[in-house]
Amino acid sequence: MRMVLLGAPGSGKGTQADLLKDKYLCAHISTGDIFRRNLKDKTELGVKAGEFMNRGELVPDEIVIGMVKDRLREPDASSGFLMDGFPRTIPQAEAFDAMLDELGTPLDAIILLDIDEEILVKRLTNRRTCRACGKIWNLLSMKTENKTVCSDCGGELYQRDDDAELVIRNRLKVYHDQTSPLVSWYAKTGKLYTIEASASPDETLKKIQAALG
Ligand code: AMP
Repeated sequence: MRMVLLGAPGSGKGTQADLLKDKYLCAHISTGDIFRRNLKDKTELGVKAGEFMNRGELVPDEIVIGMVKDRLREPDASSGFLMDGFPRTIPQAEAFDAMLDELGTPLDAIILLDIDEEILVKRLTNRRTCRACGKIWNLLSMKTENKTVCSDCGGELYQRDDDAELVIRNRLKVYHDQTSPLVSWYAKTGKLYTIEASASPDETLKKIQAALG
């Protein structure tokens, strides 16, 4: 399965990709995660990307495109992939089409996770990630008393720097200006499925699976 998950920040792309990768046994490629790893390791790529990420802006196309090209050549991507957070601009989508043409591996589906903007802001300000296992939690739906540790592995939960409310508002604006034009771009392929994504992750997963048949 080769799939793109499209949607505003906080729409659940990362969570759904994690659930879907186990069902379809393919690679979860999150450009945001790759940047965050590089930022943590203080690589040249990480330092460059960090400047944009902390302002809620997009990392320049040429950096992202080169990185995805390399990532797609890794062995685990040959059995399929779930793209989470890429493409995010029309030039990225054009470059991605060219990469897939070259590899002879067309996309099977593009999933648009559709959700009300105020729900997004609430989700993002309450989002926490486990430092140890990377699992994404939401303070509002966590069932445990202690909301500073991961219920799965006991790791410390942290808030992403770009989940501060002002940065979130900017990321949503960037989404509307630069990423939402991809919806009509992909609608033309006849492989775009729009999924209402305000319910729980499991319910959203069921809707995606029903759409994919
Ligand atoms: P995400 O985890 O997908 O929300 O991405 C976090 C941040 O990484 C974004 O706000 C951007 O600054 C950067 N980023 C991730 N993917 C891309 C992309 N495809 N194009 C440009 N910037 C990206």
